[in-house]
Amino acid sequence: LKNLGNLPVIPLPESFALTAAYSDDPFPNKVNLGQGVYPGDSKFLTKARELLFGPQIASSENIASLQTVAGTGANHLAAIFCARKLCPKNVFISDPTWDNHHLIWKEAAPNVTQKLYPYYDPSTRRLNFEGMLAKLESSAEENDVVILHACAHNPTGIDPTREQWKKIAEVVGRKKLFVVFDCAYQGFASGHADADAWAIREFYSMLFTESSSSSSTPAGMFVCQSLSKNFGLYGERIGALHLITPSSTSPEGARAHLVQLVRAEISCPSLFGARIVHTVLDDAELRSKWQEDVRIMALRIKSIRALLKSELERIGAQGDWCHIEQQIGMFSFTGLSSAQVQELREKHHIYMLSNGRMSLSGLNESNVVYVARAIKDVL
Ligand code: PMP
Repeated sequence: LKNLGNLPVIPLPESFALTAAYSDDPFPNKVNLGQGVYPGDSKFLTKARELLFGPQIASSENIASLQTVAGTGANHLAAIFCARKLCPKNVFISDPTWDNHHLIWKEAAPNVTQKLYPYYDPSTRRLNFEGMLAKLESSAEENDVVILHACAHNPTGIDPTREQWKKIAEVVGRKKLFVVFDCAYQGFASGHADADAWAIREFYSMLFTESSSSSSTPAGMFVCQSLSKNFGLYGERIGALHLITPSSTSPEGARAHLVQLVRAEISCPSLFGARIVHTVLDDAELRSKWQEDVRIMALRIKSIRALLKSELERIGAQGDWCHIEQQIGMFSFTGLSSAQVQELREKHHIYMLSNGRMSLSGLNESNVVYVARAIKDVL
């Protein structure tokens, strides 16, 4: 089996090595006539990593971080790296998921078989937790990859409970799988960035610290971090990929290979959005304003959920609409069929994905009555 510990440290691409050496040189009159920057704004990476892991875990030596082209680029880099350097047999993807997971793994990792694990149970409109665990128990092999949504699962809006996360971590460790956490909505689930990173931090503490038992250490873990939504920087494509190696293994070999992949793909990532994130997170006042903005945004989504549910109930739309309020994050998995979605579009000019996923950011006090009536009409 290939694993993270087997990867040799390879030299940095020359221009990266030059910049790194220049940065480390304390000579006061130093001159940099080399070109290029180190992969990622290091101040941004430090702050992004602290946001995700909290300051204590973020300072651990078994984490390597690189700036990526938003969350999508982080997923893509993770997939390429796994496909080329770890060669897992299978990647396990939640059913359903953000559709780009399928495309990214198809294009970037054609040698890895995609398998679905049950996630959403349409009959209960809840998490099919037993089905999910049973699938991983029965079908996942050592070194296989499992993609997990860190919070605010897209498209279902349903997250595991803390107890369920611990059970998932136990299976992942015992079966020595490779975890890819996709974290695109930190702050959107609860309104608090720390609370929304709970699962990632718990996996780290349970599985990747020195006290973690070596018989139940996963093959490794990636966290794909998007700053697009929670910083309103969608157009700047800002994100990071964090690699966590088992506590006995240095991430340096793997990191060197990741740097090479970044060099070949994008040379060096964009700076403007990275500087905004760094500036905000590095300043106590700006940071608390940002936290308040995220909290307000999450509360707004929650209040829109309540409004849509109560409006559907008030007008007597057939069925139980409690799930709209119970789901978490930016999306509601309405339970509407693709035929109903099509009718909403043709008759009422209301657009949503054919799987019934509604983005709540498009709903407001002025259009919620119209949308509720239209939904009633197509039921
Ligand atoms: N992962 C998931 C689960 C997402 O929903 C999204 C955004 N739609 C992404 C990743 C990609 O994020 P970004 O826009 O930062 O590329």
